[in-house]
Amino acid sequence: MRYVSTRGAAPELGFAEALLAGLASDGGLYVPASWPTLPDTSRPPDYASLAAAVMAPFVGDDLGPGMLETLCHEAYATFRHPAVVPLVQIDHDQWVMELFHGPTLAFKDVALQLVGRMFDTVLAQQGRRITIVGATSGDTGSAAIDGVKGCEHVDIVILYPAGRTSDVQRRQMTTVDSPNVHTVAIDGTFDDCQDLVKAMFADAAFRDDLQLSAVNSINWARVMAQVVYYVAAADALAGPVTMCVPTGNFGNVLSGWIAQRMGSPIDGFIVASNANDILARFINDGDMTTRDVVPTLSPSMDIQVSSNFERLLFEMNGRDGGLTAEQLTRFRATGALHVEPDQRAGFIEGAFRAARCDDEATIDEIRRVYATTGMLIDPHTATGTAAARALGPVTPGSPVVTLATAHPAKFPDAVERATGFRPGLPEHLADLFDRPERTGLLPNDLGQVQSFVRSVSRLG
Ligand SMILES: *Cc1c(COP(=O)(O)O)cnc(C)c1O
Repeated sequence: MRYVSTRGAAPELGFAEALLAGLASDGGLYVPASWPTLPDTSRPPDYASLAAAVMAPFVGDDLGPGMLETLCHEAYATFRHPAVVPLVQIDHDQWVMELFHGPTLAFKDVALQLVGRMFDTVLAQQGRRITIVGATSGDTGSAAIDGVKGCEHVDIVILYPAGRTSDVQRRQMTTVDSPNVHTVAIDGTFDDCQDLVKAMFADAAFRDDLQLSAVNSINWARVMAQVVYYVAAADALAGPVTMCVPTGNFGNVLSGWIAQRMGSPIDGFIVASNANDILARFINDGDMTTRDVVPTLSPSMDIQVSSNFERLLFEMNGRDGGLTAEQLTRFRATGALHVEPDQRAGFIEGAFRAARCDDEATIDEIRRVYATTGMLIDPHTATGTAAARALGPVTPGSPVVTLATAHPAKFPDAVERATGFRPGLPEHLADLFDRPERTGLLPNDLGQVQSFVRSVSRLG
C-alpha cells in the first residue's frame, strides 16, 4: 500500500515510512492511495487476529512476515478483558463498547499499545533511534508513555502543565519505571507546553540531533488501529449498526468512516460534542467557525480545530489535495472553513449526524445511566450515550453503539457529583497512589527544556 498526502504535494511513502513520518512534508496528513475492501473477517478466534486481518491490506509486508499478527497479540494482551473491547447493552437498542480496558484506562491505548510496538520494530529494522517529545493535558501522554515504555529504540519526554492535570492522570505518567520514559512538569499552561514542543520541532539542529518524533493523533497508524473495533462491533451485532462517537480531534470518527468505506455494515455515525461543538455545528448547519475553547468535564474533547478532519475534507473534495490545502490555508487565516453546500450535503447527509452535550446534561446523563442500569460511565462516554439516545439509530430498531472512551475511575469527581459514588481504580492501578513518582519541574523556558531533553535522550 502506498500513502499520499491530503495536500497533494508530498512524496508518496510506504507504510513504514508513513508511520515514522507522522506529518507529510507539505503539512498534510498521510492517507492510503486507495481504500481496500474488508478481508473476510468472519469468526476470527480473538480480537488480535481480527485486528491483524483488518490492518493487513494497509501494512502489506512492511513489518516482515507474521510480524503484524505478533504485534497485535502482544498489544492486546495488555488489555484486562478477554474480549479486549467488550460490548455492553444499556437499553433495548442501545449498546456501549468499552474501549477502556487497556493499561491507562482510555481508548487511546487501543492504538498506542500497537503503534509503540510498530515504531520499535521498524526502527530496529532500520537501525535507527528516535526521541518522542509531546505535550499533554492528560490522556494522550499516559497512553503514549505506556505504548513505548521499554522500547529499545525510542526515548520519550512528555511535558505537562504543573498542577493542571488530575492526580490520576499525572501519576499514570510519573510512576512508570522505565529508563526510556521521562516526564517534566512545566510551570505554565497546556498551551505553553505545546508551544515548547512546537519550538523544539522548529529548531532544525535540535530536531535532527535528537531525531525528534511525535505520536499525536495525526499519525496514520493510530487511525488505522481504531478501524478494527468498528468492524468488531458491526460483526458482533450482525449489522447494520449506528456508531456514536464522543469526539475531539475527529480521529476516532474518521476510523469509523474508513471501516464503513471498507464495507463494514455501519449505516451512520453520531458525532457527540461537548460545549466545544465546532464539529456538531458543521454537521448540522454547515458552520465551521472556530471559537475559544472552554474547559469542560470531558477535557479530552476540549478542542476547536480537529486535526483529523483534514482527512475527511480530502475525501469530500474528491481527493483533490490542492483544493484541500487551499481551504485549510483560508481556514487558518479566517477561522472559518468554507465548503460548498451541495458538496457538504452530499457527503455528510446520510452518513453523519451530531449532537452537543454540555456539562449539566453530561452530569444528568451519568446519573440517568447509573439509575437505569447500575453502570458508572465517564463524562466523555456520557456525551455519547446522551447523543445516541437523542438521535437514535439510522435504521429503526437496529442497534446504536456508543464508544466508551474512558474508564469512570479516570474522572472520579464528575462521576461522584452525578451519582454520589466515587469509582475505584481497577486492580492493576489500585496502588497507583503508593507508587513513587519520577518527574521534575522546569520553568516555561525553551533553553532549559531543550537541555533537559538532551540530557535524558540516548541520542543527546
Ligand atoms: C482522546 C479522547 C477523546 C477524543 O478522541 P478523538 O480521536 O480526538 O476524537 C474522547 N474521549 C477520551 C476519553 C479521550 O481520551
